Amino acid sequence: MIRLTELSLPLDHPEAALRQAILQRLSLADDQLLDFTVFKRSYDARKKSTEITFVYIIDLQTTDDDAVLARFANDSHVKPAPDTHYYPVAVAPAELTERPVVIGFGPCGLFAALILAQMGFKPIVLERGRNVRQRTQDTWALWRKHVLTPESNVQFGEGGAGLFSDGKLYSQVKDPKFYGRKVMQEFVKAGAPEEILYVSKPHIGTFRLTSVVAKMRAEIIALGGEIRFDSKVSDLLLDDGEIRGVVLEDGSELHSRHVVLALGHSARDTFRMLHARQVHIEAKPFAIGFRIEHPQSMIDKARLGKYAGHEELGAADYKLIHHAKNGRAVYSFCMCPGGQVVAATSEEGRVVTNGMSQYSRQERNANAGIVVGINPEQDFPGSPLAGVELQERLEEIAFKLGGEDYSAPAQLVGDFLRDQPSTALGQVEPSYQPGVKLCNLADALPDYVIEAMREALPAFGKKIRGFDRDDAVLTGIESRTSSPVRITRDPQTLQSLNVRGLYPAGEGAGYAGGILSAGIDGIKVAEAVALDMLQQLQPQ
Ligand code: FAD
Repeated sequence: MIRLTELSLPLDHPEAALRQAILQRLSLADDQLLDFTVFKRSYDARKKSTEITFVYIIDLQTTDDDAVLARFANDSHVKPAPDTHYYPVAVAPAELTERPVVIGFGPCGLFAALILAQMGFKPIVLERGRNVRQRTQDTWALWRKHVLTPESNVQFGEGGAGLFSDGKLYSQVKDPKFYGRKVMQEFVKAGAPEEILYVSKPHIGTFRLTSVVAKMRAEIIALGGEIRFDSKVSDLLLDDGEIRGVVLEDGSELHSRHVVLALGHSARDTFRMLHARQVHIEAKPFAIGFRIEHPQSMIDKARLGKYAGHEELGAADYKLIHHAKNGRAVYSFCMCPGGQVVAATSEEGRVVTNGMSQYSRQERNANAGIVVGINPEQDFPGSPLAGVELQERLEEIAFKLGGEDYSAPAQLVGDFLRDQPSTALGQVEPSYQPGVKLCNLADALPDYVIEAMREALPAFGKKIRGFDRDDAVLTGIESRTSSPVRITRDPQTLQSLNVRGLYPAGEGAGYAGGILSAGIDGIKVAEAVALDMLQQLQPQ
């Protein structure tokens, strides 16, 4: 198999042109090219003055790959294709009686459970929230009727925090074993669009993600696994630095010497329990800020020029960063083209925002978090849980500013820059449900954050025309950008630094940031659990 990179074709090229381009690039006759697949397709929109083209990475097979590779030995764009197949590291023996426990059924827990099940280890998943169908109803009750269900919402329940999301499936984590490919293949097997395997910035969207997750749950069950909803873990059974099992909120116990902790970043009560049980936890940096909304058509025009609205390109995205004079980095986070801002709290009396979209990305507005990095040394020193406490305080302030009914505080960018409360909207209509209350957002976050954002927004306006327009809407607050703690693990065994058999994983433990990286971490941890279980079966 050969990998051909940097093959450019015009945006509107007919399908057949791709084969012709490969033949031409490699000087092959038609019958010498046996097969090819698109490994990746991207486009470069940085220079709007030039034509935007698709750039392909192609995996192909010829009648004589060795000869072709030899002919192009000095061409860095023609190389042997890497083996991206996934190979399970273990098979559970028939005599195995112990079952691993996975806490949390977000992307990390989902992939940990799926891989364990595929290797025959029959995991038991404990998820505090409800299944996708019930969870969707509960979440809509907050968005439509101001009614929060603390155990079933945007953060908690089947599919985890990524369920109501843009479903962006890319990440910058190093992935030498191509676990990301396995994640994508499993999503496609469960009904995600095939294009996620090759487009450079794949996304699924909320609606499709819900059915994908339900299908993956069915596979885990068919392989002998078990998923228990409404099952919050409230304590650990520990014995001399080793895990023996977990205690559920109803007081029942479940015994296992292998427990995966895939909690997500919002399980504050569980973080407190872990700290009380002296499981090693440390505070880690995260970011806070607001969500910003603009018309998607404005972003398309600024990013794609004459190609704005092109069917093949879809709604445009952006990524921005500004280093403020006060030493803070301000950056865009979780940008959702053609989407909506969502109420993402899991706790009563608190307000927090995030963004989501459907697969089509056809909503009126583009939204993104505009956030400022904060860290324990400077901003929340002391206890490992100081970041959690800061988030709680800020989300309470946002709740009050929003009118104490889960509406979110909001302000126009022009008023924010002039430090005056907003009183009326302009052309940009905020999409946040159940609604916004206009105010002065300077009261919502620490001064150094506001100062850095006031500097960054006009700077972003120089990169994307109109970004700092007067009537762009800021909605607050964005405070759960990543976990405020790390549940530190040994890099070799992936077990907690001080509890044997406990595997902190995914975003909540500080080892992932996003759906794809959480899925990848779930696979890594599943492998570590399986290998350790096999080792424990060996006679000592
Ligand atoms: P989570 O998905 O948070 O899952 C943790 C699970 O553990 C939850 O279901 C929770 O109920 C359960 N749990 C917690 N405590 C307990 C307990 N004590 N007992 C039992 N169960 C427990 N990322 C992207 O890559 N692309 C996007 O487009 C994107 N959009 C997002 C949009 C929104 C609205 C949100 C909220 C997040 C978005 N993210 C996105 C982030 C992404 O969802 C997370 O990074 C990812 O879900 C983390 O996966 P995880 O499995 O580690 O944790």
